[in-house]
Amino acid sequence: MHAAGDVRVEEREDPKIIEPTDAIIRVTASCICGSDLWPYRGLEPVKDQIMGHEYVGVVEEIGPEVKNVKVGDFVVGSFVISDNTCEICRSGYQSRCMHGEFVSATVGTQSEKARIPLADGTLVATPGQPDPGLIPSLLAASDVLGTGWFAAVAAEAGPGKTVAVVGDGAVGLMGVLAAKQLGAGRIIAMSRNPQRQELARFYGATDIVQERGDEGVAKIKELTNGLGAHSVIEAVGTQESMMQAIRSTRPGGHVGFVGVAHDVELPGLELFFADIHLHGGPAPVRRFLPDLIQLIWDRKIDPGKVFDLTLPLEEAAEGYKAMDERRAIKVLLTA
Ligand SMILES: [Zn+2]
Repeated sequence: MHAAGDVRVEEREDPKIIEPTDAIIRVTASCICGSDLWPYRGLEPVKDQIMGHEYVGVVEEIGPEVKNVKVGDFVVGSFVISDNTCEICRSGYQSRCMHGEFVSATVGTQSEKARIPLADGTLVATPGQPDPGLIPSLLAASDVLGTGWFAAVAAEAGPGKTVAVVGDGAVGLMGVLAAKQLGAGRIIAMSRNPQRQELARFYGATDIVQERGDEGVAKIKELTNGLGAHSVIEAVGTQESMMQAIRSTRPGGHVGFVGVAHDVELPGLELFFADIHLHGGPAPVRRFLPDLIQLIWDRKIDPGKVFDLTLPLEEAAEGYKAMDERRAIKVLLTA
């Protein structure tokens, strides 16, 4: 991305092993993230930035210290590089690894090949070579599924809970899937887009709320005997969505927030009297990857349905445009 709105696919030098803990992967599939739209729309500064942080692929080469993956393995990696051994990683927060880095900043996986640092901690091999039909779902695990899952866990979705989901993008939809898998009985998806409503229902939403802002909050209260939801997933990152999430949560309830916050300021006094739990941030996808890969492998979940447009890598610019114009929920790029 050379500048806002300016995406070009260009030849770059092939990545090489630099550190003994690196792996080089041939990217089978990558995708465009909702968070890639912030710089695309000029809402985050950008200049000549390599793009992409979601990826699945085949290991082509490993450094001498890599032990957990081998050449030929099909792998899924998190959007954050992590060693998976430091104290923060071991506590389940690999997205804040002491030796971590964001793939989007330094690696860029909207590409044919990528160098993955700390390969042992970052990559998880699948049980075998996947059927082509599983690839979109495995790719989803790399970010949107893992992020939606973390949001649902952070919001303490589970049996007997009513879960509300703010945001009908890929992460919000994956939050619905996760809430259902975690056993939530009632799942309220907030969306005004008919196709996304349909997908939300496919993934387990029991109710749809079309209203936004304070009207949306009133509707959630109406559906929950005036109390608000036990668990609220915030998957947008704006002031409006964050306040909608906080105000939709009942006292004692939990908000799991995973939308990358942009100009969000929380009112302290309102927060004080809300009596709720707030837990969020960049999702530690690596914590969930082994379980999510197994669920996909066993065909118990089908997160790949969030990809509603597939393009060859060369047409990445069209993919950005389609997502920016909300013609596509999420674009898969084949290398
Ligand atoms: Zn770590």
